[in-house]
Amino acid sequence: MAENFSIHNVSEDMIEPFLDECMAETDMCTCPRCRLDVLAFALNAFPPHYVVTDFGDMITRAMSLSTQFRADIVTAVMEGVKLVSQRPRCGNTKKQ
Ligand SMILES: [Zn+2]
Repeated sequence: MAENFSIHNVSEDMIEPFLDECMAETDMCTCPRCRLDVLAFALNAFPPHYVVTDFGDMITRAMSLSTQFRADIVTAVMEGVKLVSQRPRCGNTKKQ
């Protein structure tokens, strides 16, 4: 089913699962706006990994992450958390 294939940045799938975990470790605002700001920061800090694939292949790649790679992802996400929690663009300074 060739029509199911598209170009995709796998980094997005790899970083996303770490977002809530990292944000929960701080008292930062967890509204959708701040969550996306953290994701955007982490994605900019992290090299993109574009692939032509279907969804099943993406999951396989996400599951095969090395420990070092996970550590790099967490570092990028935590940097974003730090930045966004200092200047939340939604206006909240604390978790509601
Ligand atoms: Zn917020």
